[in-house]
Amino acid sequence: MSPTDPQPDAARKRILFLFSDTGGGHRSATEAMIEALEDGYPGRFETHMVDFFREYYPRPLKYAPEIYPPMSRVPSAWAFSWRVSDGKGRTRAVNNLAYPYLRKAAQRLVRENPADLIVSVHPLVNTTLARAMRKAPRPFITVVTDLVSTHAFWFDRRADLVVVPTDQAREKAVEYGVAEGNLRVIGLPVAAGFSHPLPDRAGWRAEQGWGNDRPVVLLLSGGDGMGPVRRVAKAINEARLPVSLAVICGRNAELLADLQEVDWRIPVHLYGFTSRMPEFMAAADIAVTKAGPGTISEAFIAGLPIVLYARLAGQEDGNVSYVVEQGAGVWAPRPREVVDALRSWVEDPDRLAAAAAASRHAARPDAARQIAGLIADQVGVA
Ligand code: UDP
Repeated sequence: MSPTDPQPDAARKRILFLFSDTGGGHRSATEAMIEALEDGYPGRFETHMVDFFREYYPRPLKYAPEIYPPMSRVPSAWAFSWRVSDGKGRTRAVNNLAYPYLRKAAQRLVRENPADLIVSVHPLVNTTLARAMRKAPRPFITVVTDLVSTHAFWFDRRADLVVVPTDQAREKAVEYGVAEGNLRVIGLPVAAGFSHPLPDRAGWRAEQGWGNDRPVVLLLSGGDGMGPVRRVAKAINEARLPVSLAVICGRNAELLADLQEVDWRIPVHLYGFTSRMPEFMAAADIAVTKAGPGTISEAFIAGLPIVLYARLAGQEDGNVSYVVEQGAGVWAPRPREVVDALRSWVEDPDRLAAAAAASRHAARPDAARQIAGLIADQVGVA
């Protein structure tokens, strides 16, 4: 057998990824790690993704992916539930309360998905998983996909390894009881495509109808099209900034339909959910986004200056200061402030270039590859 032939199935290591489509970030991070495993170790792994909420958890948690967008639109409720449950003792109490209700589902999940290693990419599965495996433990690692304000739910000391994206997240992990020796600060796993410049950027822009005479502002809102996107888009339109606007509405069909009705005074391009985010970022000049960790990490790699117009209270608070402190972007919670930030960059290309350089400097394009290396080590694949 040549070294490039796929291994027979029995020789492949089985890696189970536990994620959920609550937002788009957990899926993107998982897919980036799978891609890196396939690139780095062709034919050596059999990978499987399970949305534990949707596929295993009982009602109403089963509907978490559907409940997440409307719930996160009520900032006070979101912030309250995030803060009130954060802390070592509090998560223990919540986990204790929830476990009798989740036990059977979690045990079935483990039984039906035999794996050499489990990788958790979601805060709301770690402790339940560790308990469900108490009698027959399997190696499991946690890959944290929040950048800074990492909730205590992420951290269960029974994980063999916990991978975090920043030093701030590392400090939280230590505070919540993870042994320093089990922690790795690597970065958030992002698909390799974000590191590739477009071979013909001007041609790609022309193909999209973006043109090359105006800077392109990419307006983003996570996988679910959350946050005050309409208001931000309309403010940019009314200010008649000398930019083209490309709006990605994600899975929010209502938002897309609504924006199609606007009387646009600047060149605008509207999109639903796209699998071509790497190209969009490589072709754009500025990102305007809610403070999602996945989108921020991708924009860093693409070297895009970032205007943050919203954040999930609690969970994404730290992302804002992280971006601002690096000089990679600005916090502009009112549509008028978004317009001001864009105007100052468009009118001063040196400032725009400095923010782009800072963004690129903050990037960790190698994270998925490094995490794939850790996974390989854990299961003895050289
Ligand atoms: N995304 C995508 N296509 C879309 C909209 C979003 O692939 O049309 C991806 C985006 O590139 C990022 C993820 O969805 O990887 C959003 O993650 P983030 O952490 O920014 O926000 P969340 O949706 O999890 O709140």
